[in-house]
Amino acid sequence: MTECRGISVFGGVAIGKIKVLIKCEQQVKRIRVKDSSLEIERYQGAKKVAIGQLEMLHAKALREVGESGAAIFEVHQMMLEDDDFNEAVENIILSQNVNAEYAVAGAGDNFANIFSAMDDEYMQGRATDVKDISERVISILLGRSDNSDIANEPVIIVAKDLTPSETVQLDKEKVLAFVTEGGSVNSHTAILARTMGIPALVSTDIRIDESLNGKTAVVDGGNGVFYVEPDENIVARMKKKQEENNRKKELLQELKGKETITRSGRKIKLYANIGNIKDLALVMQNDAEGIGLFRSEFIYLERDSFPTEEEQFAIYKTVAETMAGKEIIIRTLDIGADKQCEYFGISPEENPAMGYRAIRICLDRPDIFKVQLRALHRAAAYGNVAVMFPMIISLEEVLAIKKVVKEVREELENEKIPYANPQIGLMIETPAAVAVSKILAKEVDFFSIGTNDLTQYTLAIDRQNSVIDKYYDAHHPAILAMIDFVVKNAHKEGIWVGICGELGADTELTETFVAMGIDELSVSPGQVLAVRNKIRNIS
Ligand code: PEP
Ligand code: MG
Repeated sequence: MTECRGISVFGGVAIGKIKVLIKCEQQVKRIRVKDSSLEIERYQGAKKVAIGQLEMLHAKALREVGESGAAIFEVHQMMLEDDDFNEAVENIILSQNVNAEYAVAGAGDNFANIFSAMDDEYMQGRATDVKDISERVISILLGRSDNSDIANEPVIIVAKDLTPSETVQLDKEKVLAFVTEGGSVNSHTAILARTMGIPALVSTDIRIDESLNGKTAVVDGGNGVFYVEPDENIVARMKKKQEENNRKKELLQELKGKETITRSGRKIKLYANIGNIKDLALVMQNDAEGIGLFRSEFIYLERDSFPTEEEQFAIYKTVAETMAGKEIIIRTLDIGADKQCEYFGISPEENPAMGYRAIRICLDRPDIFKVQLRALHRAAAYGNVAVMFPMIISLEEVLAIKKVVKEVREELENEKIPYANPQIGLMIETPAAVAVSKILAKEVDFFSIGTNDLTQYTLAIDRQNSVIDKYYDAHHPAILAMIDFVVKNAHKEGIWVGICGELGADTELTETFVAMGIDELSVSPGQVLAVRNKIRNIS
């Protein structure tokens, strides 16, 4: 048995088999071969397997996300069958007498460079696809498994690190827990694990290699321990703990359908955070009263080209209809920092968290921003939709946003497209927004405090950097004073204010927030009932 320590991101116990996720970027060695025809055969065989995988992925995506999301797998199949690409691979094998892996990597790089250099934005986007298909074929040639189709049974995912886009693409039904060697507790990957409500550890002292695959393991999320090949005692103890956790969860189930109200009769809106349309099931299961934060950037992260207005409209409309009149707060695109999307073509930055991100990109790129705002306004006709904007630092930004919103409304009106005007809110997640919150409150319908970034920017602690996790203190008096200040300013101007950062779910602070006068708390779906329980016990 091996026992490893990590930092807990979400509690609970998971028992199951390990699946190691290997990063896509693969080291490919150049090996001289005697028999090139054998390498061509290997390539042809791997290509056939890749096409089979893509067919399966296409069918799965059709079921789960519909035709538009599935189309990419058809495009990948076509690319793999493309004569030019195949000739390029075979030519490298024959002319250089090298192994198939090296030839595929070389041809993939060459084609990706050609696409990147093209003027047409659509063709530039295809560079990522060529890389993707060549990585797939290389994986098959190297005998590695396909990450996108994890396993037949639910598994414990072990990886060096996971990006938010990798996490979001995992089949959630098949993930029992996450254990990563790197990663910080405040990263979006950690937040996704919380949304999924599964045990997760980051910064774990584990040596990752593929020999872990298939081994039995236990993740003790609460205590931050990962046991590989645990002995009988550990398994028995953990099973007991799992049962206790389940019992506690069952007790909380009794709070379903009950009001979120203090003993003295103050009602708090208790909403859930989501990143994906599939999270709606968790929202329902946990009886959230609305959605306080839909991180819409995950729609962009899950794909390799810009989602169209129609695609976004379909998603927002489904959320609005499913929530049937309950409030849904959709945050506009918050791309950047740890949420990078290659097809945006943003150059690497020294300090991406303080860089070109979120509303800064949207205000610079009305072509992208307006597509989303149009889709949101159209979806607002189907439910109680509100829109909020991330990373605000000034009144000027808010006025610029309102100008674009006005233009969008006029355009929809002129085009006679049905729409409704959503409520408009701001995320308060920079110290600057806190300081000018009194002025900002005059311009909008509500505030939602993003304590994750507010803590990062106030305490000068990079939320991605696990080395300084110990300084990331969201209970710091500076943060609590800021929340208090924002609540007062919001109420003076007659608007409501909530918290959608992770601190909103911290039951040690629920009473403090209620005393400050907070109107709404938006938490991961799995935390809704525990927070309701806490609020109902406040006198
Ligand atoms: C926050 O910063 O608190 C927040 C809710 O946004 P995100 O975690 O997505 O940056
Ligand atoms: Mg934020």
